[in-house]
Amino acid sequence: MFKIFSNDPVHDPIKKQGSVTEIKKTTCYMCACRCGIRAHLRDGELVYIDGNPEHPLNQGVICAKGASGIMKQKSPARITQPLLRKAGSNRGDGEFEPISWDRAFEILTKRLGHIRATDPKKFALSTGRDQMQALTGLFARQFGTPNYAAHGGFCSVNMAAGMIYTIGGSFWEFGGPDLERAKLFVMIGTAEDHHSNPMKIALSKFKRAGGRFISINPVRTGYSAIADEWIPIKPGTDGALFMALMHELIRLEKYDAPFLKRFSNSAQLVCMDSGAEEGLFLYDPDSDPINLDLPHNKYIWDEKTQSAQPCFKQGTSPVLVGEYTMGPGPHQGKKVVPAFELLKRQVSETTPEWASAITSIPVARIRKLALEIADTAFGQEFELPISWTDSWGEKHDSVTGRPVAFHAMRGLSAHSNGFQTTRGLAVLMSLLGTIDRPGGFRHKAPYPRQVPPNAKPPSSENDIKPNTPLAKPPLGWPTQPEDLALDSQGNPLRIDKAYSWEHPLAAHGLMHNVITNAVKGDPYSIDTLMIFMANMSWNSTMNTMEVREHLNSKNADGEFKIPFLVVCDAFQSEMVDFADLVLPDTTYLERHDVMSMLDRPISEFDGPVDSVRIPVLEPLGECKPFQEVLIELASRLKFPAFTTPEGERKFKDYPDFITRFQTGPDSGIGFLSGWRGKDGEKALKGEPNPNQWQKYAENNCVHQYHMPPEHQYMRNWNKGYLDFSKENALRQKNDPIMIAIYSDILQRFRLAATGKRPGAQPPAHLKDRIYKYFDPLPFWYPPLEDEVTDLSKFTLNAITQRPMAMYHSWDSQNAWLRQIHSHNYLYVNTATALEHGIADGAWMWIESQWGKVKCMARHSEAVDPGTVWTWNAIGKAESAWSLTDNADESKKGFLLNHLISEELTLGGFKVSNSDPITGQAGWYDVRVKLAPAGEEEPLETWPQVKAYEVPGMSLKKEANK
Ligand code: SF4
Repeated sequence: MFKIFSNDPVHDPIKKQGSVTEIKKTTCYMCACRCGIRAHLRDGELVYIDGNPEHPLNQGVICAKGASGIMKQKSPARITQPLLRKAGSNRGDGEFEPISWDRAFEILTKRLGHIRATDPKKFALSTGRDQMQALTGLFARQFGTPNYAAHGGFCSVNMAAGMIYTIGGSFWEFGGPDLERAKLFVMIGTAEDHHSNPMKIALSKFKRAGGRFISINPVRTGYSAIADEWIPIKPGTDGALFMALMHELIRLEKYDAPFLKRFSNSAQLVCMDSGAEEGLFLYDPDSDPINLDLPHNKYIWDEKTQSAQPCFKQGTSPVLVGEYTMGPGPHQGKKVVPAFELLKRQVSETTPEWASAITSIPVARIRKLALEIADTAFGQEFELPISWTDSWGEKHDSVTGRPVAFHAMRGLSAHSNGFQTTRGLAVLMSLLGTIDRPGGFRHKAPYPRQVPPNAKPPSSENDIKPNTPLAKPPLGWPTQPEDLALDSQGNPLRIDKAYSWEHPLAAHGLMHNVITNAVKGDPYSIDTLMIFMANMSWNSTMNTMEVREHLNSKNADGEFKIPFLVVCDAFQSEMVDFADLVLPDTTYLERHDVMSMLDRPISEFDGPVDSVRIPVLEPLGECKPFQEVLIELASRLKFPAFTTPEGERKFKDYPDFITRFQTGPDSGIGFLSGWRGKDGEKALKGEPNPNQWQKYAENNCVHQYHMPPEHQYMRNWNKGYLDFSKENALRQKNDPIMIAIYSDILQRFRLAATGKRPGAQPPAHLKDRIYKYFDPLPFWYPPLEDEVTDLSKFTLNAITQRPMAMYHSWDSQNAWLRQIHSHNYLYVNTATALEHGIADGAWMWIESQWGKVKCMARHSEAVDPGTVWTWNAIGKAESAWSLTDNADESKKGFLLNHLISEELTLGGFKVSNSDPITGQAGWYDVRVKLAPAGEEEPLETWPQVKAYEVPGMSLKKEANK
């Protein structure tokens, strides 16, 4: 008899199990938050996962995803052996033959060895939501290719770059809201977060303590459910709101003038004369430049002496407004203004009335919001009795709290105006004086960093040589046109055109354009593309159907335009089908891993924290961690950092590499900061410790360093902290990190566009673009896609949100999480839906100028009437992720990506559909229209796409019986 028909309980909770339960600790990877977890094993089999109460990040809290890791382990979509596409078959048909790892490494070593010895940039490495970019970036640099990018360019590089180019830090891993001491919390453009469980814990405490939470978002989902107030806003207009708030604060003189004068470049003098110095700070040749890369020897206008004085001179009274003429000296007669004066002029017209028409937020609400944030910042100011010394040697007895905190993420970032919008937020926060202060925004180590950090990308052909590591890291932070990745003819050095004049500050690359560019041979063609953990033929790509065609497109000689495609993933997906070579990765429970200080650690406000994963299970089948693949390849290819002076392999495996690798000869800095030194007695810096992994295993897989209170605030200008950060290689220098209210770096690019600056200049067709967008002050402009859209026809904005219970496309093969989301709806404001004749639950069409999708509608009051939205990446191709042919994911679920183009024709030429400064993908810029589906139409989503099971997956099904 089937057990379900018997009287025996399926599971008897009080029955003695009579077997041994073991608990192993590691770090979750069901999303990017990196909570500490406990894996409970019975007789070696994983039976339960819960949160680790001793872990500083999540303190025992676990979410639906984290607890469901067990079903990821048991997923029938696991790939279990290396696979080679059968000769003559098409990509996408999933026709593979199993091969051994030896053969896989032979193929890769031969192919990559040849590329490295001839033209290293013909190899491109793109990684998705991985957490080992310090390693993948090192691999690319040692290989010698500039063509390396992680997912940041299509995720949130605007948030990172916009903030880092302004305050030297950003949200999530880099910093966040101090909700312990905040009284008002304004969350904008965030639904579910990368900092998921810690944010939930902090929000719950904040609300219980009486804090007021305002959510500004087109959609009320995720955290917004517990907001005291939801302010709907039109997508892509957040920057206009910030401009209006700054207008109000400056009009009402409600800004922190002492903070701005001392800690930002607000008082520093900008040259107003036309010519090569126009819009740049003037420099005092007689003061010592403290930082040669970004010198500090600028001027302020001193009210007492009515003269220009060195900006760091003590005892002066800098002014913030007015226009002045330089007196006797090297700049005599030049007209100058403090940078703040220019900000004041910039926001003079950005009134609440102006912003209301753009954002759809009522004028009165914008005015009230400005008053609320100002009254909280200044009316509820408090002091913490923590003494500290600033960069100029002045001792302070306390730190000032300004208890208004902001948090923002992808909603600001994923627009083609996201960089300037994010700059707007950073400048707004600076006006309120809430940078690294109690109750406001606080940094997390290794941030704050220089504005911007000092790594520069390769900037000439000479930086890329056969059989040689890149002269510079593949990704960096340009500060002037000469830093761009261009060849001697001005052509892009990178396949994605990052750091070209099209996207000069593309700090995370443009992974979303790699396939299209490579297939077009623009700027050149490549030989091998290796993709790790990114579903580039489905939800990680814009223009999904055409990109799938690109992957299969061939030259006249029958060769694929991208000749060799390597995909490494733990699960069969839409992407795996297109691979020439499939490398089966392990799950997070089967491998060593590090969340490193060299990368994106899990630091807390009070000090550096890093963590590890330690395997709790053996790898399934022949799965091998991608980390091990990289170490093996780097060793076989004899990369210098992986080879001894005698030419021998340097590291046995990944754990050995992590233990012994140092950033420089005897630097004492490695991937892990805990238990360094021969006996593990040192923190942050010290010789390699052979027992380091063991120490992490004994300590909840985490190392936490608590800084003394006097190092925990005002870190941009805190001498003690800056000395500490230099000593421990968190920064290279210990000079103050001045907030860039005004960005002379952006102005350098603008000057190049006008031809007034000597040196590199943009090509003629990009001059206007550079001039317009490289405004040294924040400004708002409509998303670029509006320029090429008939806005009278496509009247609605369409966006996606990430659900709390699923992370991108990772979880549709998870039997438990599928019970929460097996398909998605298009959420439409009830009034909007009825206006279009679309009933709740009905089939409907959503169409942009680029394509259309059939989906099901859900009426909602929790969405702005001008916006429609859906969950990201729930829709799947038929049979993908080992789902059945008629699974909800492929029959009812849908992908909004079909409606979004990866390129736009602007000004007569094609460019990436991205931010013109950073190259951040403009996912949320698309405009759509709606229509009900016809009664005769099939009740399933459209387009329908087929994926194929690959060999080896049945092994897993057997294993799970
Ligand atoms: S928030 Fe993310 S890392 Fe934390 S338990 Fe949930 S899935 Fe895991």
